[in-house]
Amino acid sequence: MPLQKVLTITSVILACWLVFIIAWERISPYRKGLAFFREGFWIDLVWYTLIQSYFLKILIFDYIIMPLQKHFDLSHLHLMSNWPVALQVLFFVVTHDLYIYLFHRFQHSNKALWRIHEAHHSGKEVDFLAGSRSHIMEIIINQTIEFAPIILLGANPVVVPIKALIDAMFGMFIHANIKVKLGKLKYLINTPELHLWHHANYQEVFHANFSTKLSVWDYLFGTVYDPGHAPGNKPENWGLYYDYPRDYFLQHVFSIKRFDEKKLLKYPWFKWYYTLRLRLIDRLDKFMPLKPQGPEVDLQPSAPTTPIPIEDNLIQQN
Ligand SMILES: [Zn+2]
Ligand SMILES: [Zn+2]
Repeated sequence: MPLQKVLTITSVILACWLVFIIAWERISPYRKGLAFFREGFWIDLVWYTLIQSYFLKILIFDYIIMPLQKHFDLSHLHLMSNWPVALQVLFFVVTHDLYIYLFHRFQHSNKALWRIHEAHHSGKEVDFLAGSRSHIMEIIINQTIEFAPIILLGANPVVVPIKALIDAMFGMFIHANIKVKLGKLKYLINTPELHLWHHANYQEVFHANFSTKLSVWDYLFGTVYDPGHAPGNKPENWGLYYDYPRDYFLQHVFSIKRFDEKKLLKYPWFKWYYTLRLRLIDRLDKFMPLKPQGPEVDLQPSAPTTPIPIEDNLIQQN
């Protein structure tokens, strides 16, 4: 099948899967009361899913894998060119999933590697989009190791978009705020319940549930944590036990240098940048006020309210 056609089909499947998962979250939520536009939604969507993914795709494929291909191209050996595409996909899904299990486990036991993984754990409201939050270096390492062998070993070019589709579908599935009962299949396929526990702020699960697609690695290596009930529904039951920046750029700076985001507000340049979004919304409200439609109503003056400082307001809204 031509590559272009595969790209179209994978895009359509992904769009359908997205709608399906969003509907599932609304119908049968694992944690009740999570808003669709939850805390950090726009950062995960705009910065991590759209902007970061776009630029890292160019960096990884054009500036890392292509130069590697010039020096280490093994496609002439025809190691897998005779394999059916389904077998090639299966081979890379399983081998890469084992690698991800081991690397993820290493990230939880090594201080330097934790610095490029903590962003993924920083959200307290985990949903279908939360899996997109990954540090730049984590993506560069993992996706180079994922896609370079597919290209260097001379697999069918359609394996790349098919593998990327499977990644995206599983990424949404295991982070989705949905109730799933897979029965005996849970010993093979990872579930939201196991991975949502991995995002919970409980010491007993910090070194457990490292699997991404195949839960079999956690069962095989004795790192599964499946207590049979959900974590608590309070903010302190989820995400990190320490304060973490809410801003995309600061999240990356934080991996190199620790700081308190709120203390930086004493610097005028930082305050200007940090409050930019709120000021833009404010301007828009003044320019296009959202007045109730219909005849003017005489509103009784209400009790005066205490104004919220702009930085606190932003911290609440972000
Ligand atoms: Zn983790
Ligand atoms: Zn995750």
